[in-house]
Amino acid sequence: MLLKSLIMLAELISTKDWSETSLGKVDLWPESLKLAISISLNSGFPIAIYWGADFTLLYNDAWSSIPGDKHPWALGKSGAEVWPEIWEGLQPEFESVLQTGESIRRPDALLLMNRFGYVEECYFDYTLSPIKAADGTIGGVFNAVIETSYRFINERRKKLLHSLLLANLSRSTSDILPIIKHILEEAGDDITFFLLFKDAPGDVHPHVDAKKSNGLLLAGSDVNQNLVDAPWPVPNIDSHESSKYIGDLSQFASTPMFSCFGEQCKEAIVVPLSSINSKINGYLVLGANPRKRLDQDYQQFMESVGLHIGTILHNSYSFEQEGLFEREQAMNEELAAANEEISSTNEELQQSQASLHILNEELERRVAYRTKALVESEARLQSMIMTSPIGMAVFRGRNLVIEMANKPMLQIWSRKREEVVGHELLQIFPEQIGQPFLKMFEDVYETGISISVSEMEVSINTLDGLKKIYVDFQYSPLYDADRNIEAIMASVINITHVVEARKRLEDSEQEQQALNEELAATNEELAVSIEELAISEQKKDEFISIASHELKTPLTSIKAFNQLMQRTKDEQRLKGFIEKSAEQVYRLEMLINDLLDVTKINAGKMIYNMEPFSFSKMVAASVETAQHISSSHQVILENNEDVHYTGDHLRLEQVLHNFLSNAIKYSPHGERVIVNSRVEMDNLVVSVQDFGIGIEEKNLDQLFDRYYRVDNTAMRFEGLGLGLYISSEILKRHNGSFWIESEPGKGATFFFRLPLQPDKKITPQINTATFYQDDHIKISYNNENKTLDVDWIGYQSFDTVQNGGMTMLEMLKVNHCSKVLNDNSNVLGSWSEAADWAGNVWFPMMEKAGLKDFAWVYSQSMFSRLAAEKSVDIAVGNVTTRFFTDVPAAEEWLNSR
Ligand code: ADP
Repeated sequence: MLLKSLIMLAELISTKDWSETSLGKVDLWPESLKLAISISLNSGFPIAIYWGADFTLLYNDAWSSIPGDKHPWALGKSGAEVWPEIWEGLQPEFESVLQTGESIRRPDALLLMNRFGYVEECYFDYTLSPIKAADGTIGGVFNAVIETSYRFINERRKKLLHSLLLANLSRSTSDILPIIKHILEEAGDDITFFLLFKDAPGDVHPHVDAKKSNGLLLAGSDVNQNLVDAPWPVPNIDSHESSKYIGDLSQFASTPMFSCFGEQCKEAIVVPLSSINSKINGYLVLGANPRKRLDQDYQQFMESVGLHIGTILHNSYSFEQEGLFEREQAMNEELAAANEEISSTNEELQQSQASLHILNEELERRVAYRTKALVESEARLQSMIMTSPIGMAVFRGRNLVIEMANKPMLQIWSRKREEVVGHELLQIFPEQIGQPFLKMFEDVYETGISISVSEMEVSINTLDGLKKIYVDFQYSPLYDADRNIEAIMASVINITHVVEARKRLEDSEQEQQALNEELAATNEELAVSIEELAISEQKKDEFISIASHELKTPLTSIKAFNQLMQRTKDEQRLKGFIEKSAEQVYRLEMLINDLLDVTKINAGKMIYNMEPFSFSKMVAASVETAQHISSSHQVILENNEDVHYTGDHLRLEQVLHNFLSNAIKYSPHGERVIVNSRVEMDNLVVSVQDFGIGIEEKNLDQLFDRYYRVDNTAMRFEGLGLGLYISSEILKRHNGSFWIESEPGKGATFFFRLPLQPDKKITPQINTATFYQDDHIKISYNNENKTLDVDWIGYQSFDTVQNGGMTMLEMLKVNHCSKVLNDNSNVLGSWSEAADWAGNVWFPMMEKAGLKDFAWVYSQSMFSRLAAEKSVDIAVGNVTTRFFTDVPAAEEWLNSR
């Protein structure tokens, strides 16, 4: 059954002929193996099981993608057969788990696997845990695994792109090339070799020809001439080809290139260097890692490398241009100095008429020179801006009139030249009001210092709506001849694609991280569920042995009485034997009924006949029957309120019968059992009190679990540990609850409660921002102490606890309150069914809403106290919770906070 219930791999496993493998026939497999298979098949995480001395492999559906093409062949093969290329490294780990029983965990372990016909660089997070059989021996290894290749390799590639981004500083080409070379050589895992060719701008080649064009700019140290001279194909920009893929390198180079793994490099890619202004300034040839498929991700990464290097080279080009510009500025300064010189010369002129003529000539010559220099400088500036591959524009005056803007700049703006030139910046881009650029322009005007900012987010209004882009930019002042700032030059690079690519990588990294955490959690859950399964298996075994014993006892008695009946002739004695034998038959019947009930509850097939009946008559009849059966105890019915109730008569009688027979059974020296049945606040509350052995507090809340018997009673009293479990199920189906008060050695009182109006809605009597009241709770905001004072009243159900809790939450928020006085002293009965909700859902919400200090005043009921501790114990966080037995102490503590 275990093997048949599940899908796909379950089917493969169940239909395979295992008799030919070292595992042998399925029927003979040990329970621990079957259990491990069942857990793995039920899990959505990749799990493999390696069983026995040869580590025979079994796995689940999620794992089946890990061996690639080897699935399904791998099922039932030994570890050494499935993983010949890595088994030597793995075997010692597997052996060690088998021998020591200790788990092993390996994060991001490199395994070179042959899964798709080539040896691939793969990374895995995996755990190896022992699978223990019932007798403690270790039969195999449980291997939960998640492939981390994608994250690991992406991280490595991201590092390379990041180094390139950092290298993107203003430097001259000759300075920057060795830096690029160093970065690419460091990235040998992803880039086996590289060649960087520079093309003369405007030169269009069908392929890169190192000898014909400006030639090789850069190459990895170990690249041979063969590769340098190869006729590399180039991507066709016109048909939007962003790179050229080369699947067989041997066509280009007769001497092969070897990767850092010592394998021959077979694939490469040619990417253009920068196409920001649609001009290609060079090409980059990148050799791929032979141990990784050149898939779309890999290709995009290579293209990003090209884009980054292109940008760096453009920047260094503009940097060199800027050098020229500085020389022009120096010339302007020289002219200004000349002006001063001229004015002083004028003074001299007044003194010496004789030299006037010569000086005049000199002056004219200098003015002519200055005018020519200015015109040339302006022309050079204009040409530099218009041909620059990065976005450039000039803004004149304080109102930022756009005087010039080149094509890349217009592309960034999504505007035509005639739409912008001659207009003020804010007329064209009113959305810039409130964005930080205007202030930067002003700063440059005020200080004369250039401003450079990288990776800035900008919103630009386009025909398609507001567009968000990322830019690196610089604002520099332009001076007039008098050294006043007359305009500002902006240089802008659109790096949106780089930032978005990086963000995607970061997202995928986060996803991976989340997956890893989930895996760790699942691993833990798996470990817990294996343990729980083992425990429940053990409990079941114990139960079967108890049940057999319990069933055998009356049977043995019946057999004995039967023999006696056969032998005896005495009528009187015969009658006695028949009666005794009938008692044992009754006992047997009760045991079998309990067993049948539990089976019905488990299968959800317990049928309830809800009908109105006289509850008080039922109570009286049950008490009478109990008294009839037990002569040792006096069963006293103290109160029996006359009430009609709608429910399953026989099942509720069964509950009461169970409480009564337990009270008698577990008080062998007690003489009385006291029963009360009353109506309290629209609830029927029944109690059965005995003066017997009692129950310790620590055992209280498990009593209603299946098969649960308090240890020290199990040996002394007969029973299956099913009665209270069945009772609790019956009560739940009547929307009722139960609780126990007990003192060990003094006795126990078992209570149950049935609501007389289960569908009654909770209606608030008062409901304001500072005060709320209904039948079950009163909440008031105490403005003086800044506390929320909460008084829970009477019997509570899941609904009343939930309603009260949510109202508290609302009022806490509205009044910006952080302290709560949660008074339970007026609570009756138990509200334990809401404890999980309170702990897992409500308390964390309260914390989020600002709760800091929580004073909990216990109710009288021990059972309720257990629920209280459970409700806050489960929560983790910054709230300080204290339990109190009286309100004044709780108030004092809260006021001191
Ligand atoms: P059973 O009596 O057949 O063992 P129940 O489910 O009726 O099963 O009870 C579960 C356990 O609760 C008992 O084994 C016993 O340990 C404890 N118990 C039940 N009623 C009482 C009682 N009145 N006093 C002390 N312990 C009790």
